[in-house]
Amino acid sequence: MLKVLKFGGTSMADATQYRKIRDIVKSDPARRIVVVSAAGKRFSEDNKVTDLLYLCDAHMRYGVSFDSIFDMICERHIGIANDLGLKVDIRSELEVLRERIQAGLNREELVSRGEYLSAILMAEYLGFPFVDAKDWLFFHYDGTVDQEKSYAKLREIVGDGCAVIPGFYGVMPDGKIRTLTRGGSDITGALAAAALDADVYENWTDVSGILMADPRIVDNPHPIERATYSELRQLSYSGAQVLHEMTVFPVREKGIPLNIRNTNEPDHPGTLVSEEFKEPKDAQQRFITGIAGKTDFSIVTISKKGMAGAVGTLREIVEIFEDNTVPICYTPSGIDCVSLVCPSEKLTPHLYSVTESLRREIKPDNIKVVDNISIIGVVGRKMAYRAGTSGKIFAALGEQGINIRMISQGPDELNILVGVDSKDYAQTVRVLYNAFVK
Ligand code: ASP
Repeated sequence: MLKVLKFGGTSMADATQYRKIRDIVKSDPARRIVVVSAAGKRFSEDNKVTDLLYLCDAHMRYGVSFDSIFDMICERHIGIANDLGLKVDIRSELEVLRERIQAGLNREELVSRGEYLSAILMAEYLGFPFVDAKDWLFFHYDGTVDQEKSYAKLREIVGDGCAVIPGFYGVMPDGKIRTLTRGGSDITGALAAAALDADVYENWTDVSGILMADPRIVDNPHPIERATYSELRQLSYSGAQVLHEMTVFPVREKGIPLNIRNTNEPDHPGTLVSEEFKEPKDAQQRFITGIAGKTDFSIVTISKKGMAGAVGTLREIVEIFEDNTVPICYTPSGIDCVSLVCPSEKLTPHLYSVTESLRREIKPDNIKVVDNISIIGVVGRKMAYRAGTSGKIFAALGEQGINIRMISQGPDELNILVGVDSKDYAQTVRVLYNAFVK
C-alpha cells in the first residue's frame, strides 16, 4: 500500500504545522511519499514565501536592494529549523541563495527555491530522504512534462522507499530549472502518485475538502463528500480554488483516487474523488455537486448573415484568436452569430488586432465586445439526462431579477454555465446555492 501526500503552503507555514504533518505521516506506514509547497501564510496579512521570491526577482531586475525581503525568507526558514531542532545548515543554504540571486539567478530557479527549502527541512524532520524534483521531473522544450521519462526516473530513485519531494518545479532538457504554473505543487503530487502507482493521492490543505460554493460568498457551504474526476475538473476549471485545475489528469490516467484533506482537521474524511463510485445509501440526495465561478471574462460576438450555413467560418474565426494567442474558454452560438468568451486579461492587449483581423477576414455585419462578465458553472453528475435543472436555474435567477448574458450546457450534461454581469456575480452564486442546496 502506498499513499502519496502533498502538503500545501498553509500546511508548511511554521513549526506548528510541521508537527501536525509529522503526526499525519507517522500515523500510517503507507504514507511514504511527501510532496511539499513553499511556506505559505500563517495569518491573513502574512506573505507566501513564493510571492516574496517573485518580489526578490523584481527588485533585482529594477536594481533595487532585495535584502529586506530576503531577510523575511531567512527568518521564516531559520525559525522553523530552530523551533524543530533541525541540524541541517539552513543558514548556509540561504546565504548561498542570496549570493546566487545577487549574481543574477534566473527567475524560474529563484522562485522555485521556496519548495526546495521546505523539502530540505521536512525531509530531516520526517527522517525521509530528500529527492530533488530536478532529478526526476523532466519537461519537454515546449514546457509539457515528459511523463514517461519522469515516471521511470522517480520509480528508479524511490523504489519501495520513502521520500520528501519539493513541488512546483522540474528540469528542462538543457538542465535549467523550470516551474509549473502557480499552485503547481498539486501537479507534482499527482505526477508522483501516478509515477509510483500509488493507491491514493492525498492532497492536504487548509479546508476539509472541496466546498459546494466559495465560502467568501456563501456562509458555511457544505463540503463535497464525493465527486468524480470529471466533476472536479469542471469545478476547478470553472473557478473552484482548492486544487490546481490540471491536478486531475495524471491521477485519472492511472485511476488513482484523490482525497482532499485538511491538515488542521486530520480526522475529517474530506472529499474523495474517483472515476465513479456507488452512491452511499445514506448519501445526502443533493441534485448538484457544486457551484464555482470566475469573474473578468469578455464576450466577443460576431454576426454575419448566412454564417450559420457557411463552411469554415468558425475555423477562420478561431484561427484569428489563435494567431493572437488569445485563449477561448466557451463558444455559445446562435443562428448567424457566434460568441467567443475569453479571459479579459488575455484579450485586452490584443483586442484591436483581433477585431481588425475579424473585420478583414470574416467581413461580419457586426462585432460586439462586452467586458465585465462572470461565468458561473453549476456542476453535478446527477444532472445528466434529468429534466428540470436548467429550468430551475433560470427561474431562480429570473425571480431575483438577474439578467443572464450567456448560457451554455456541456454536451455531457455535467454542467450548466451561465454568464452574468460581474456586478451580479456574488448574488448569482448565492441564489443558485439557495435554490439547489439549502
Ligand atoms: N509555491 C507555489 C505557489 O505559491 C506552488 C504551490 O504552492 O503549489 O504558487
